[in-house]
Amino acid sequence: MKFVIIGGDAAGMSAASRARRLYPDLDITVLEQSFDVSYSACSMPYNIADPDTPMDTLVVRTAQQFIDNHNINLLTGHKATAIHRDARQVAGKTIQGNVFCFEYDKLLIATGAVPTLPDLPGRELLMPLKQLEQGRQIKAAIQNKGVKKACILGMGYIALEMCEALTDLGIHVTMVKPGPLLLPWLPRDMAQIVQDELNKQKVILHLGTKIQRLEPKNRGAAIICDNITLDADLVIGATGVAPCSELARDAALALSVSDAVHVDQYLRTSDPNIFAAGDCGDAIHVVTGQNVWIPLALRANRAGWAVADNLFKENNPLQGVAGTAVFKVFNLAVARSGLTFSQAKDAGFDPVENLITSWSRVKWQPGAAKIYVNMVGDKKTGKLLGAQMVGIDGVAHRINAVAVALHAGMSVAAFIQTDLAYAPPFSPTWDPLLTAAIQLEKKL
Ligand SMILES: Cc1cc2nc3c(=O)[nH]c(=O)nc-3n(C[C@H](O)[C@H](O)[C@H](O)COP(=O)(O)OP(=O)(O)OC[C@H]3O[C@@H](n4cnc5c(N)ncnc54)[C@H](O)[C@@H]3O)c2cc1C
Repeated sequence: MKFVIIGGDAAGMSAASRARRLYPDLDITVLEQSFDVSYSACSMPYNIADPDTPMDTLVVRTAQQFIDNHNINLLTGHKATAIHRDARQVAGKTIQGNVFCFEYDKLLIATGAVPTLPDLPGRELLMPLKQLEQGRQIKAAIQNKGVKKACILGMGYIALEMCEALTDLGIHVTMVKPGPLLLPWLPRDMAQIVQDELNKQKVILHLGTKIQRLEPKNRGAAIICDNITLDADLVIGATGVAPCSELARDAALALSVSDAVHVDQYLRTSDPNIFAAGDCGDAIHVVTGQNVWIPLALRANRAGWAVADNLFKENNPLQGVAGTAVFKVFNLAVARSGLTFSQAKDAGFDPVENLITSWSRVKWQPGAAKIYVNMVGDKKTGKLLGAQMVGIDGVAHRINAVAVALHAGMSVAAFIQTDLAYAPPFSPTWDPLLTAAIQLEKKL
């Protein structure tokens, strides 16, 4: 039996490793267009901030290790260009220009996501951060060009992580986006806390600023906007990503929201011999039951793993995602799980939200800091729909309680009854999440 995988990072290599463990005799081939496999993309901003640690330390396992220790036919520099479903073949081209063709019994598309850079004149001056090689390029540019000023297009989580990394290196950072709001999915009072932190760190924000074009200037570029021209030695393009689903689309597989490859709970596409996992595929949202596209690392690893489980039998159905995420903005952590108020409205709920301010630990404990929790519930059913949190302390892991409650389909009233841990160095007696739920229940 031949199992072919397109894409050799989180989803692809999780599937390959698990398949090898489950099926010692399976013929496994992985096609990876780049020369990097199995690395922590999520750590790239932090590695860029650390000039002494090479980017290659983020590689979890090298291609050679997969070949030698796991008997996986891992082919780097191999780009798949077409899936011929009738013949069950994947065709492609190597970096050297040689064409190849592999037959499969089972195929996994694990091609991830691609940066969506704005279609502007001079866009080639933008440096995106998605693949390890792009991380190396940004790091080399910082070291070789003596970058003093950087401009980041975009203000999402990768943009904000890069902003912190560059600031830590003593680089002056300006951020630009056409939309008028920072983190539009957060209640404005919470977004303002993030904005205040960025101001405190001397980051310049140009919100509501339409970029017209980029032009080469000195060592870097001029960023020409509607009402201002900025210049920078380095311009990072962090304006979002899209699912890398062309292969699936060209093979007439069903696509869904945001053009992600549509999969069922066993990760099967509309062709039962072809699976899709990771950032290229969709998932069911556990709160709405609808298809969503939320490209995050845990789902990619879990879905890859589940593909191996489900390769020949329905063994491991996946429940779905709650969209749980956390990121760091200098001293702050920003987290979310489930739906925001407007997402809940769009999904047909009758949402009510409530924002509370509490303390991360008992107030006089060292490290105690204000924590802001916005919780969303459904007026009709009393169901918990989601929460967003911002704070200096105790945000990152606290959001996981919300995620578990959402997976369990809890009501706000039931969440209030949960027996959360308390000791002064870790939490007030009533955890901020419980306080948020109690206040929300009053509104509901
Ligand atoms: C800077 C950064 C920070 C992040 N931080 C976080 C975080 O903190 N938390 C979190 O949950 N997620 C984070 N993510 C997202 C996370 O990295 C992704 O969700 C995860 O890598 C997805 O894994 P994947 O295997 O689906 O796709 P990818 O990691 O994108 O891998 C897809 C692979 O397929 C290959 N490929 C594509 N097309 C072809 C083809 N035609 N032929 C052969 N090979 C092909 C690509 O070269 C790539 O190696 C971050 C991402 C970045 C870039």
